[in-house]
Amino acid sequence: MSAKKANLSGELKKYFGFSTFKGQQELIIQELLEGKDIFVLMPTGGGKSLCYQLPALISEGTAIVVSPLIALMKNQVDAVNGLSSENGVAHVLNSSLNKTQTKQVFDDIKSGKTKLLYVAPESLIKEDYLEFFRDVKISFVAIDEAHCISEWGHDFRPEYRNLKSIIDKIADVPVIALTATATPKVQDDIQKTLGMTDALVFKESFNRANLYYEVRPKVNVDKEIVKFINKHKGKSGIVYCLSRRKVEEFAQLLQVNGINALPYHAGLDQKVRVTNQDKFLMEEADVIVATIAFGMGIDKPDVRFVIHYDFPKSLESYYQETGRAGRDGGEGHCLAFYDPKDIEKLEKFLAQKPVSEREIGLQLLNEVVGYAETSMSRRQYILYYFGETFDPVNGEGAKMCDNASNPPKLKDASEDLKKVLKLIQETSEKFKSKDLISVIVGKENAVTKSYKLEQTSFFGFGKHEKDNYWKTILRQATVQNFLQKDIETYGVLKISPKGREVLDGKFKDSFLIAEDREFDLSQTKADSDQVQMQASGSLDQNLFGQLKELRKKVAKKCGIP
Ligand code: ADP
Ligand code: MG
Repeated sequence: MSAKKANLSGELKKYFGFSTFKGQQELIIQELLEGKDIFVLMPTGGGKSLCYQLPALISEGTAIVVSPLIALMKNQVDAVNGLSSENGVAHVLNSSLNKTQTKQVFDDIKSGKTKLLYVAPESLIKEDYLEFFRDVKISFVAIDEAHCISEWGHDFRPEYRNLKSIIDKIADVPVIALTATATPKVQDDIQKTLGMTDALVFKESFNRANLYYEVRPKVNVDKEIVKFINKHKGKSGIVYCLSRRKVEEFAQLLQVNGINALPYHAGLDQKVRVTNQDKFLMEEADVIVATIAFGMGIDKPDVRFVIHYDFPKSLESYYQETGRAGRDGGEGHCLAFYDPKDIEKLEKFLAQKPVSEREIGLQLLNEVVGYAETSMSRRQYILYYFGETFDPVNGEGAKMCDNASNPPKLKDASEDLKKVLKLIQETSEKFKSKDLISVIVGKENAVTKSYKLEQTSFFGFGKHEKDNYWKTILRQATVQNFLQKDIETYGVLKISPKGREVLDGKFKDSFLIAEDREFDLSQTKADSDQVQMQASGSLDQNLFGQLKELRKKVAKKCGIP
C-alpha cells in the first residue's frame, strides 16, 4: 500500500495527465486504498470521479461504480477508456446491452481486464449478476450521485434505497459514496441508508465565488430576459423553464428576437434533443431554453449565465442548475425571476401528492421563498442551506449578489409581526393567508362574513399599509419560522414555538424585512408577454418573411432596438 501511496502523483500523471490533485483528492484516494469507507461531499466540477477512477485503475480487481444515468455512464466509460493505453478498462453493465455484449463484459471482468464497471442500481439487483460478482475480485464499490438515495435530495431514485443490502451480498469491500448535494438532511440520509455512519467524511466548500446571484421580480419577464441576453450577445447561457410548453414557446420567442436559441426537454424527439444539445456544446447555438431535464453531466465550461424563468422547486436544484455557469472559473451570472404566484402553483401541485412527498416538497419550497425574498447575502443563504457558515463581509465572493451590491433597505417589522401573531392567536389559528390579509386590511369576503370578523376590534387594523406589505410579513414570518403552514388543512397558518416566544415576550431579536421588496406583481404585470406568444405561433421552414415582420413588430412592442 505505501508504495502506491508514494506514487499516487505519478499515477495521476500517467493516467490523467494532471500534475496536481484537486482539493482533497489525494487524501481521499489514500484512505480508500487503505480500505476505509469514504463519504465525499464536493460541488459539481470538484473532481469527484477521479476519487474512484484512479484508485480503481491501480487496484487489483474490478471497482463497481453505481451511477444513475445510462448517458452519464457512457460518457465516463469513454473518458476512462481514453486514458489508458490498454483499451477497455472500463465497461458498462445495464439494460442497454444484449446477451453477447453482457457475456463479453463478464469475460473481461474474469480475466482481470476490467478495472471499472459502471452499473445502474436496477441491474445490480439481478440474481445471476450477484452470483457472478461474488466469484470475482471486487476492489471497492463507488456510489456516485449518492443523494439519489434521499427523498430530500433533488433527484430521488427508489432503486438507490436497497444498495446497502445488495453491496453486502456482493463482497465485504470499502464503499465510497459521492455527491454534490450537501444539505445536512441529505447527508444524514445517505450515511444512515448506506450504513456509513463511521465513514470518513470529506467535505469541500460549496461556495462558487465566481457566480453572481440575482433575483428579480417577475415583471415583463420576456422583455427582461431578451434584454439581458442581448447584453451578453454571443455568450453561452441556459434559460430554465418549468414546463415543456414554456420551453418551446420561449425558445421561439428568443429566436424571433434574433437570439440563437434552441429548446431542450424530455418530450422532444430524441434526435432533436441530441442535436440541440450538441449545437449548444459546439457553440452553434448560444442559448438553450430547457426544462431541468437538461444539464446533468453536461460539462460546458464557459456557460456565462443561467436564467430561471420560473423559480425551481428547491434551493438544492437551484444550486445545481446555476452551478452550470462559470465552471471555468470565469464570470457566471445567475438570474432568477420570482413571482409568489408561481410558488402558489407549485404548492397546489404538491397538495395532490402523498403526504410525505408533500411535506418534503413544501418545506423545500419554503426555503426557496426564503431565498427569493431574503435581504441577506444570497451566497450566505445558500451556503447556510448546505450547512456552511459564510462571512457576508469578507467571505470569498461576498460582493457577488444583488443584495450585497445593492443592499435593500431593512425595516424592523417586529411590532407588526406581534400584531399578526396576536390576530392569528385570537382567531384560533384557522385561517389562510388570504383571509388573514382581508381581516388585517379590512376587506370583507365570504370567509370574513361567515365568521363575522367585521365585528371584531382587529378588523382593518393594518389598513394603513398595502395588502402586499402584509403578504410579505406573513411569508417572511413563515420562512423565518414564526408561523407554520398546517399540512392537513393546507395553507392554514399556525403559530410555531418560535412564534409563541414572540407572543410571550421571550423573543428578543428583531424581525427584519426588506422594505423595498414587494413581490406581488398582479398590478404591474404587463400583458405584452401574451401578445408575443400568440404572435410567434409555431415556426415553419418557409415562414422567414413573416418571421422578419414579426420580429420587427415584437421588437417594437418590447422596446427592443
Ligand atoms: P464532479 O463529478 O465532481 O462534478 P468531475 O469528476 O466530472 O467532477 O471533474 C470535473 C472536471 O475536473 C473534469 O473535467 C476533470 O477532468 C477535472 N479534474 C479532476 N481532477 C483534476 C485534477 N487533479 N487536475 C485537473 N483537473 C481535474
Ligand atoms: Mg460527477
